[in-house]
Amino acid sequence: MEEKVRVRFAPAPTGHLHIGNIRTFLFNWLFARHYNGEVILRIEDTDVTRSQDEAYDAIVDDLRWLGLDWDEGYSVGGLYGPYRQSERLDLYRKYAEDLISKGDAYLCFCTPEELEEERTAYLAKGRMPRYSGKCRNLTADDIARLSKERTPAIRFRVPRETIVLNDIIRGEIPFDGSGIGDFVIMRSDGFPTYNFAVVVDDAEMKVTHIIRADEHISNTPRQIMLYKALGLPVPKFGHVAMILGTDKTKLSKRHGATSLSYYREAGYLPEAIVNYLAFLGWTPGDTREIMGLQEIAAEFTLDRVSKSPSMFDPKRLDWFNSQYIRACDPDKLLDIALPFLSRLGVSTDLHADIEERERLKKIVVLVQDSITRLSEIPDEVSFFFGDTVKQWDGSAEKWIKNPTGERALGEFIDVFSGIEDAEFDAEQIQAYLKTVIDRVQVGTRKVLMPIRAALTGRTKGPELQGVIEILGKERTIKRAHDALQEARRDYHDATDL
Ligand code: GLU
Repeated sequence: MEEKVRVRFAPAPTGHLHIGNIRTFLFNWLFARHYNGEVILRIEDTDVTRSQDEAYDAIVDDLRWLGLDWDEGYSVGGLYGPYRQSERLDLYRKYAEDLISKGDAYLCFCTPEELEEERTAYLAKGRMPRYSGKCRNLTADDIARLSKERTPAIRFRVPRETIVLNDIIRGEIPFDGSGIGDFVIMRSDGFPTYNFAVVVDDAEMKVTHIIRADEHISNTPRQIMLYKALGLPVPKFGHVAMILGTDKTKLSKRHGATSLSYYREAGYLPEAIVNYLAFLGWTPGDTREIMGLQEIAAEFTLDRVSKSPSMFDPKRLDWFNSQYIRACDPDKLLDIALPFLSRLGVSTDLHADIEERERLKKIVVLVQDSITRLSEIPDEVSFFFGDTVKQWDGSAEKWIKNPTGERALGEFIDVFSGIEDAEFDAEQIQAYLKTVIDRVQVGTRKVLMPIRAALTGRTKGPELQGVIEILGKERTIKRAHDALQEARRDYHDATDL
């Protein structure tokens, strides 16, 4: 490509980003990085009633968290700012006046009630409603008179011609201009409409490629008409097919969580999310699945973007997430797990406490291969915190409170009390557990289950030797004692002790 690629992401500030928006940004980002181009972040906040202040920050925060950057735009600045549409109102007015002076736009004084009447009349005749053109040919006198009564909107005079969209992803799409009524470009409140603002901004910001969701295809002929009327170069368009839920309908809240905030809070890794989303509509053309952003960018071209919708499958995302969790080195895993561990009251300020950091690292590594989301960590490891097991769950209690359980715990305490501290590592512990199993002689499971139950309060969890190593000798034996006592309290007349 000879010209410098410039793309933009133009979200409305309506809350946290959604899966669909993020995929759109991601495709723009990958495309720009592939061609050494530039990415612009522009906030489309002309729909004032829907814009929320916190939402501006949420967008920036979400994108940064995902590891996606931009070269220009909101929060970073650049040559073509401001990058919030609400701060560019004078510019839109200037362009609209230019169109009026050329006869390509006109003032429209129709009230919402009049427009509604027109609409109903069209519908009653079974026709597609569109603007009748009532204000198309007002005289200077009409305008002077009506201006005293109300503030006009500005409408674009739609040319009666066929517009052909040459979409990079979907090929040629023709539109019949005669099916499009004159549309408003500036509302009477002084704000531009989406179709107008987007053209002015994309042109002013020298955007070369517009990659966006295919729900905007129907807007594109209007935008192309505006470029032409303004005498501006028309950028290239690529419309990406929509994302469906597992039931093959458009992805929406009905399908469960679609907001990034949910996935952040549930402990999905940004790397997993972007990897998965890149594959929603794009493929490297072979069987690779785990790919980092840079690796994808190196290969990302629009000819590998699918024309048909892709399906958002939370189970696939889970798979990607667990792969990324497994691939973390211990320090990284601890760092990303800390906010979740803090839910257990664990201090996240570990700078001064190297020993505690090492212990926590071992704890998270122990469950690393069995979790799908980081938010599962607190529950998986809660038993490590505190001196005692506060509660044994129902099935744990059953394993403890029976004659075999008591015997296993008795032998366990006996064997483990004799271990030197220096020998207290997972490998040695495994050997000592074998000694206990050999002594009790009822099979491995019947010995290890009561021990697990006593030490963790549950019957499922990470490998026992790892649990024992992290608990340390003192706590291990204390917990085994506590359980034994608990068992004996209910079990005075056990005969096989
Ligand atoms: N604000 C629009 C959206 O979020 C931007 C559409 C476009 O990319 O032109 O859908």
